Amino acid sequence: MNSSKTWKSGEPCRFAGTYRCVQCRLEGRETIREMTQGAILPLCEFCPGKDATWRLVREAGVAARK
Ligand SMILES: [Zn+2]
Repeated sequence: MNSSKTWKSGEPCRFAGTYRCVQCRLEGRETIREMTQGAILPLCEFCPGKDATWRLVREAGVAARK
């Protein structure tokens, strides 16, 4: 279920919103980026030398659901 909302660095964002670095999450860091639709996802500054995998955690304009 998680894999449907992840993208790699260098890919364009399909949705505007808040993205979190999956690798950082695994290592206990919370690295998030606010992205606009169509923007190219960056490399993660905390994961040097790797393509970062970004997970969409919240879409812009969509109220957070509980
Ligand atoms: Zn990272």
